[in-house]
Amino acid sequence: MRILFAGTGAAEGWPALFCECDVCMKARALRGKNIRTRSSIHIDEELKVDWPPDTYLHVLQYNLNLAKIKYLFITHSHYDHLHPDDLLMRQAPFAHMRSSNPLNIYGSQDVINCILKAVGEPSKIGLILKVLEPFETIKAGSFRIMSLPANHDPKQTCLLYLLESKGNVILYGHDSGWFPEEIWRRLESWRLDLVILDCTTGAFSSRGYHMGLKEVIEMRRQMLSKNMADKDTIFVATHFSHNGLLLHEELSSKLISEGIEAAYDGLTIEL
Ligand SMILES: [Zn+2]
Ligand SMILES: [Zn+2]
Ligand SMILES: [Zn+2]
Repeated sequence: MRILFAGTGAAEGWPALFCECDVCMKARALRGKNIRTRSSIHIDEELKVDWPPDTYLHVLQYNLNLAKIKYLFITHSHYDHLHPDDLLMRQAPFAHMRSSNPLNIYGSQDVINCILKAVGEPSKIGLILKVLEPFETIKAGSFRIMSLPANHDPKQTCLLYLLESKGNVILYGHDSGWFPEEIWRRLESWRLDLVILDCTTGAFSSRGYHMGLKEVIEMRRQMLSKNMADKDTIFVATHFSHNGLLLHEELSSKLISEGIEAAYDGLTIEL
């Protein structure tokens, strides 16, 4: 199984759209792994998590064929995770697809409402929408997925996803602050192969809404101590913001000594 981190930035990207702060200026000068588009992962061209406004850029950058994606899981309706208008391009004359396979989209009621508002009748563009409640388990192809309630925007239901396929278990853990107790209880019986965590606030500590380096490091330790993870579990921090102040090399050097990889656009992980 191949996991592609297509984007690894927070809502405003890095360099941020209109920003002239020191670390955005440095990212513009250094480029490379300091350039972060809005966050999403692809698993084997079959499953995708989140639909950011940079999806078209990702198609170009990684030579992706979105017609192959069967399952799209959306964490929440913040626009860096859900840009529903681009879904309208999945119909003639904008797209001429070789198969009539539908795209199955999963998310909270808030997410599904957002998509319906943008696309009108989903079946006309081959979309099948499914509302997920927290702690619901569903099957999608070879995947078994459990939704988990994030500690994020209290104005809507924000979900994290536990994805299991072919003996591998992946936790998609952002956007979220420190996990609520009910998530910890649910995860206790699992052994995770890949853990993807929110490190939006970088150098600054944060336990609500998002997390920073300190919390990501603490979360890994807690997962190890609860035997949800072991020495073979891969930890990846992502969704970085310029307001966290640390460029890629700084993030990477602080995290790697703690057994955590700092994601960058284009990172791939094989499980
Ligand atoms: Zn976000
Ligand atoms: Zn900036
Ligand atoms: Zn968010």
